[in-house]
Amino acid sequence: MGKRDYYEVLGVARQAGEDEIKKSYRQLALKYHPDRNPGDKEAEEKFKEAAEAYEVLHDSQKRQVYDAYGHEGLRGSGFSGFRGFEDIFTSFGDIFQDFFSFGGFGGQTRQRTAERPGDDLLVTLTLSFEEAVSGTEQDVEIDTMVGCSQCGGSGAEPGTKLTACPACQGSGQVVQSQGFFRISTSCARCQGTGRVMVSPCKQCQGQGRLRQRKRVLVKVPAGVDSGTRLRLRGEGESGYRGGPTGDLYVRIEVAPHATMERDGDNLYTKISISFLQAILGDTVELPTLDGAKTLNVAPGTQPGEVVRFSGEGVPRLRGYGRGDLFVEIEVRIPKQVSPRQEELLKEFIELDKEKDRHKGIRWPWNRHKEHEKDALAGVHQEAGTS
Ligand SMILES: [Zn+2]
Ligand SMILES: [Zn+2]
Repeated sequence: MGKRDYYEVLGVARQAGEDEIKKSYRQLALKYHPDRNPGDKEAEEKFKEAAEAYEVLHDSQKRQVYDAYGHEGLRGSGFSGFRGFEDIFTSFGDIFQDFFSFGGFGGQTRQRTAERPGDDLLVTLTLSFEEAVSGTEQDVEIDTMVGCSQCGGSGAEPGTKLTACPACQGSGQVVQSQGFFRISTSCARCQGTGRVMVSPCKQCQGQGRLRQRKRVLVKVPAGVDSGTRLRLRGEGESGYRGGPTGDLYVRIEVAPHATMERDGDNLYTKISISFLQAILGDTVELPTLDGAKTLNVAPGTQPGEVVRFSGEGVPRLRGYGRGDLFVEIEVRIPKQVSPRQEELLKEFIELDKEKDRHKGIRWPWNRHKEHEKDALAGVHQEAGTS
């Protein structure tokens, strides 16, 4: 496996100063950080490669070895290259704290202590259409880590203290001699903290936290929709040995409604009226999410007409006010009429024709039909007389 030259990786000259190396690494780390390139294997490789190059070149001892003997020389001195993301944060926590204000991994960068932040959690909450529109409060049950009550989260058995680590005499660093070089590394026994527990807490086995099912009250604001993510700060897993608590993310799913549809902040529904209500106008009751509303049907309303109720839609999740409610009017035609109704309707037709005649309108297709009728009548008459 041909390893790239570390100076080439960071894009700096061989005589580059410490500041230049640091600056170049920060730029690369920001560009290829996994949080910014989720799922991108190539970016991850570049990120690791840059971290490894930086780990060597910012350390004057390792850099000397590398300058003199190359990759081979480092392998001989026990440097194994990239050892995982956790090591980056242990070694270069300061760089990441300065530059990854968006939060490193899981929202927190690792510090030079044994404590670690708790994980973020994600749950899905399914709401009814109405709950999503008007907001609600609901309990969700999560499987999480909670702080240990016995040791108060420290992980140490109550009454016992942390003592200086015997492996590093409390310095947190172990110095190894490799030929001419003395290489100082973080102590594995105490994870660089310089302190160890005499007796870990029996209830949590020294973790400072316990697995538990927990109920969390989620206050859902009005106007959420499928795919909305709510963040509940500090409601995720408790940290390891008193580390900061993670966050809980609640992803919203919204069930469909029987008669309403939604598009962003607007609501859409239909109402059905009789053809007589359409002709004469009427006031009808319209069921909405806020209860029944009165809809004034204007005389002469056409099928498919849309009435808009401004500000009667969904409350805007980000911002003020509400969207609109659109109501499409469907007109029902009776499938059957009584003989008396038919009589009246025929009379209506006659009146209508008269109205047209008054206006001087003669419809060409009616004229044509009249001819047809006359012709048919003639045929019937002929048949009748023979
Ligand atoms: Zn405990
Ligand atoms: Zn130690």
